[in-house]
Amino acid sequence: MKVAVFDAHNDSLTEREDLNVLTQRLSDGHWDLIRFAEGGGRWQIAAIFTPPKFSGIEAFAYALHHIERALEWVEQNRDKVRLILSKRDLQYDGRIGILLSLEGASPLMGRVEVLRLFFRLGIRCLTLTWNHRNELADGVGVGEAAGGLTEAGKAVVAECEKLGIAVDVSHLSERSFWSLMQVARKPVFASHSNFRVVCDHPRNLTDEQAKAIAEKGGIVCLTFVPSFVGGDLTKFLNHFEHGVKLVGAKSLGLGSDFDGCKDPVLPEASSFPQLAKAIGEIGVSVADIRLLFHSNLIRYFRQTLPT
Ligand SMILES: [Zn+2]
Repeated sequence: MKVAVFDAHNDSLTEREDLNVLTQRLSDGHWDLIRFAEGGGRWQIAAIFTPPKFSGIEAFAYALHHIERALEWVEQNRDKVRLILSKRDLQYDGRIGILLSLEGASPLMGRVEVLRLFFRLGIRCLTLTWNHRNELADGVGVGEAAGGLTEAGKAVVAECEKLGIAVDVSHLSERSFWSLMQVARKPVFASHSNFRVVCDHPRNLTDEQAKAIAEKGGIVCLTFVPSFVGGDLTKFLNHFEHGVKLVGAKSLGLGSDFDGCKDPVLPEASSFPQLAKAIGEIGVSVADIRLLFHSNLIRYFRQTLPT
């Protein structure tokens, strides 16, 4: 069963050395335009991931370099892909929509004006941290020492809401998460996280976190990373079923982490129909599969993006 797919997270844009290859059907990696379209792909949040070894001006330069080559790639392939910059761009026109996301805020150097610059360059989603600490908040890797959002973090979140940039909580430490929930006025989302009660991994969300996201109108996007799933595709279905019980199908989405992990439980971007079939077989309605596959994220970004 082929259902249109809105994937909330992949890493192909910073993982691939040469972006030109993404228009071909590749035999390595998980994601390219051909396989994604074959799987029903229409919308892709593509991360600009800055490795933890870079900070300050080096992180800024690294992100700029990768945004520029992403923009160039979109420009060169404008018959196949387009950037999602506004609510209007969510309308499918036969091309795959790319929504650029900054994964880890270290390139911002804690400065609101740099966020505004990245917005002008097309960034429409901000994953506040990766696993380490940055100027805005602490990631899950910081452990017990993790604190809440810094003053710069609060200012950046407020500016994201003003500009129309989605705030992503995946990778955030629990303390930073709750501190964010105190100041966020608009819905936030988790681009690639599962449920901790199903698989006890620090990158997964507690039930309280997932409920808080859903109560604000946000989305939890389930991911195929094997260590966050805690098993195979069958175990992934357990995360989905838990999510339905906890927050309802209307608050769930998908965030593959294709090209960002090894051996995802769904093998590649063309495999989404296999997932739709497997979910259908456990008795989930086509309407709920559509919610999970794209409708919820479309609704979320219609609320979030600028007009
Ligand atoms: Zn990630």
